[in-house]
Amino acid sequence: MNLHEKIRNIPDYPIEGVQFKDITTLLKDGEALRYTIDKITEFCKSKQADIIIGPESRGFILGTPVAYNTGAGFVPVRKPGKLPAETERVEYSLEYGSDALEIHKDAIQPGQRVVICDDLLATGGTVQSAAKLVENLGGEVVGIAFLIELTFLEGRSKIDQYDIYSILKY
Ligand code: 5GP
Repeated sequence: MNLHEKIRNIPDYPIEGVQFKDITTLLKDGEALRYTIDKITEFCKSKQADIIIGPESRGFILGTPVAYNTGAGFVPVRKPGKLPAETERVEYSLEYGSDALEIHKDAIQPGQRVVICDDLLATGGTVQSAAKLVENLGGEVVGIAFLIELTFLEGRSKIDQYDIYSILKY
């Protein structure tokens, strides 16, 4: 399957100079969506994941069906103030701007095997922070999976201690 042709490139979004990879054109294609979820599921099964983490918000879209297929649980990592119970928090910097991420303190049990799943690896700040959150709670990050990796931003270098899987590379 040629997934590259399912991704739409949006120049200068959300700021000038950024070539945004729009995955909504892939999501609305049933065959492409199934292929994507199946590929990431294969990786998560091979890692024997107990929990799939999805960072807000496109990580929710891919992470939940992958968790269902894997037989794992799904845990959201969210922007500050969105999770209702007690949270663990980490500050991070983005490709454009900076932010923080939170996870529920009781979302991961010590020793659980966790795969983080997001749509795209840019600078790596988002998943690096998600990994920190998991580890602060005593979980083991056994893999990180992406639909898209922007190799020219070298986000991999921030997370090279982990097993990284990406379907598409730019
Ligand atoms: P990073 O933290 O690796 O710099 O940025 C990755 C995060 O920002 C991901 O959660 C991803 O959803 C979002 N992101 C950054 N650039 C793009 C892009 O071009 N397309 C999409 N779909 N998401 C992006």
